[in-house]
Amino acid sequence: MTDRVYNFSAGPAVLPVPVLEEAQKNLLSLPGVGMSVLESSHRSPHFTEIIETAESNLRKLLKVPEGHRVLFLQGGASFQFSMIAINYLRGTGKPADYILTGSWGKKAIKEAKREGEVNTIWDGADGNYNRVPKQEELNLSPDAAYVHYTSNETIQGVEFSTEPEVGEVPLVCDASSDILSRPLDLSTYDLLYGGAQKNMGPSGVALVIISERLLDRVPTEIHSMLDYRLLAENHSLYNTPPTFGIYLMMLVGKWLLEEIGGLEEMYRINQQKAGLLYDLIDGSGGFYRGHAEPESRSNMNVTWTLQSEDLEKEFLAEAKNLGLCELKGHRSVGGIRASIYNAMPLEGVTALRDFMETFKKSH
Ligand SMILES: *Cc1c(COP(=O)(O)O)cnc(C)c1O
Repeated sequence: MTDRVYNFSAGPAVLPVPVLEEAQKNLLSLPGVGMSVLESSHRSPHFTEIIETAESNLRKLLKVPEGHRVLFLQGGASFQFSMIAINYLRGTGKPADYILTGSWGKKAIKEAKREGEVNTIWDGADGNYNRVPKQEELNLSPDAAYVHYTSNETIQGVEFSTEPEVGEVPLVCDASSDILSRPLDLSTYDLLYGGAQKNMGPSGVALVIISERLLDRVPTEIHSMLDYRLLAENHSLYNTPPTFGIYLMMLVGKWLLEEIGGLEEMYRINQQKAGLLYDLIDGSGGFYRGHAEPESRSNMNVTWTLQSEDLEKEFLAEAKNLGLCELKGHRSVGGIRASIYNAMPLEGVTALRDFMETFKKSH
């Protein structure tokens, strides 16, 4: 424990220590089972219990409506960029609306364009992706197959505070980097997805929560592994799922329910953590410059620059010496990024804030 640093990595990212400890404790043998989860059949009774608990934890936390299905898939969030468009854009003759607020949205659009017409109904390029749009800025297509947006752009650090309103058109959301960070009402969404490695578990699992009406629209001639309906009918066990990742997701859900006390409380803590950094940035007299506009700021990925790249290098080196690690901004944006997901303790953020204060005074 003592040699753990404060890890501000954007992903794979910090996990709750109690989760790692429980996984470690049970690595050789699940209690009463006599074998590791790593060695267990995905069709064994004990793995069935694990995946069912993982699902029921998520259903409780996210208030998932009865009719929505919870799927544990592979290929990461990036595979969903293609899978969504193959299922719901290809051959429809309709356009799909995409709200473009940063790097991940751009990648989603790239794949969707292979399958049909894409309307980028808002593009934050003008402001170098430093904000999300207001509702009245969205040029929604009345006949869109779906509307896709990225609730939190991990690289730029901009986050929607509420869902865009899209009427009867299915709302599809890449929530990879802010899922489970706050309460959501899943009935608003037809499809919500995310890679697990930011806020839910290790890499290798993607969570997809999908409505009945979208399941009914899966085209009949589709490869099995792309077929949401088939995957749902088989309870994510059509082929071998990423069992260890699902096990860790189950533990993360349990941690959120039992140790944190649910997403209302998690959200309160997340706002407090992010507030510490944004307040310091705002009060720094321009020494630290936040990338995102205040009303679009992310609670998960805080992004800022210093006056020069040299100063940023010095900042990163001194931070690292204090055990404040993985703070370098994404190569496409530069600057500094602190990813402060659910599992980053308040003490880690306080330590970063204190360091930033000291660094500013000494430079
Ligand atoms: C990390 C991330 C992705 C990509 O996830 P993979 O699992 O690596 O494909 C997509 N969208 C967002 C918002 C992300 O943060």
